[in-house]
Amino acid sequence: MREELIKILACPVCKTDVSQEGEKIVCSCCGRSFPIRNGIPVMLADEAETNLKETDDGK
Ligand SMILES: [Zn+2]
Repeated sequence: MREELIKILACPVCKTDVSQEGEKIVCSCCGRSFPIRNGIPVMLADEAETNLKETDDGK
């Protein structure tokens, strides 16, 4: 994937710049990760994997 492309991408949820991690696009702000399909980042909130720490607040 071209690095220039990653620079113009932003998280659809929080509008923050994202970065590429392996086969995914990751938003460091909200913790969502977006798939890359056929070399094209799928920047859709519906497609995002949430890595939010929701499981931690079960105290
Ligand atoms: Zn985000």
